Amino acid sequence: MNKSAILLFAGLCTSVLASPAPKNIIMVVGDGMGPEYTTAYRMYRDDKSTAELEWTIFDHLLVGMASTHPDISNGYVTDSAAGATALSTGVKTYNGAIGVDINKQPVQTVLEFAKLQGRKTGVAVTSQINHATPAGFSAHNVSRQNYDAIANSYFDEKINGQFKLDVMLGGGWKYFIRQDRNLVEEFKQSGYTYVDDMSQLTQLTNKQPLLGLFADVGLPWALDLPNTPRLPALVKAAVKQLENDKGFFLLVEGSQIDWGGHSNDIAAAMGEMHDLGLTLEWLSQYVDNHPDTLFVVTADHSTGGMTIGARGEYNWDPEPLKHLKSSPDMLGKQLVDVSNRVDLASEQLGFALTKEEQQQLTVIDSHDPKVFTKAIKTILDKRSITGWTTGGHTGIDVQIFAKGPGSELFSGHRDNTDIAKTVFKLLGKK
Ligand code: MG
Ligand code: ZN
Repeated sequence: MNKSAILLFAGLCTSVLASPAPKNIIMVVGDGMGPEYTTAYRMYRDDKSTAELEWTIFDHLLVGMASTHPDISNGYVTDSAAGATALSTGVKTYNGAIGVDINKQPVQTVLEFAKLQGRKTGVAVTSQINHATPAGFSAHNVSRQNYDAIANSYFDEKINGQFKLDVMLGGGWKYFIRQDRNLVEEFKQSGYTYVDDMSQLTQLTNKQPLLGLFADVGLPWALDLPNTPRLPALVKAAVKQLENDKGFFLLVEGSQIDWGGHSNDIAAAMGEMHDLGLTLEWLSQYVDNHPDTLFVVTADHSTGGMTIGARGEYNWDPEPLKHLKSSPDMLGKQLVDVSNRVDLASEQLGFALTKEEQQQLTVIDSHDPKVFTKAIKTILDKRSITGWTTGGHTGIDVQIFAKGPGSELFSGHRDNTDIAKTVFKLLGKK
């Protein structure tokens, strides 16, 4: 080989080995989405007319696994605040901490660093926008419970004189429109476009900074909005609004997979998984069309200790989860004051109730919707053969999924803090 051939060869190697740094980075958190959820989702989406169990978008994007524990002085099981802080700063902390370390000192997040570099930034989530995960990327507070203070900080804390977040989409009227302070008005007066109905998201005509709040606290369950895939709608609008020459950083969260896990509600959890699955399908296409964009997906922890198969049965059956016309929470509310519970429940669940199931509903002597919801969840757990071991979180490793330039850097076994460290590097932090 002569000298120029060697140089050419070396040049080819570098271009193959190190993909250029991405211009846009989208981090996606499936809150509470342990590997049992992505496995169950594969079965939930299985096409029964074929002999194979088809891959889902999660299977196509899988690159690695991550440990999730908080600072070890706090034990091995994390909450979403410490989880988000690890994913956003690369620093382990205590449960409840929002963007602060174990000594309660603020630590820079990847979102803040991206803003400092001149990128646009945003959050698009199905919880309130000041909930633990988005707050862990955008705020610093000793406790996730300080919701009003965290909301205030979205307006009050500036980076280079600019607002931290160019786009905020999710729920949270309760925290942003208060007696003592109306942050929506303050943002509007500072040049933000404000929308409070998701249908407005497709009609935005300018690239002004954007605040969209669509619920008092979290958005309604995906199951209760069957015709409007809600996270895809938020993410499409956020990306469109953030696109610019200098690039953007967007934090996306499927917030309520975790809420389905906490309430041991397999139907709601699968509805949330599908909302996130559709979001990832759209993001995957987006990266095909915008090869300068990376997205990396992970979970902060798993929730509920969900099992695929339970009570000694060697099976799991997603079929009864596929035809619900409303969430078990909504159905519980509907059942309270209705004269014929069995008919309404069959209608909303999409299957005829057995004698035993009818009995379970008719014996209820209560006006508490939660009692009815519990009965519905019990029927669905039994039919689907789903088990639960806790109403809290579990310490199992979670998966990492990625696509786009730099996606290979997330492969293999990692710690959640490695994900933040890699994102910092890709954003150009030395
Ligand atoms: Mg969360
Ligand atoms: Zn949780």
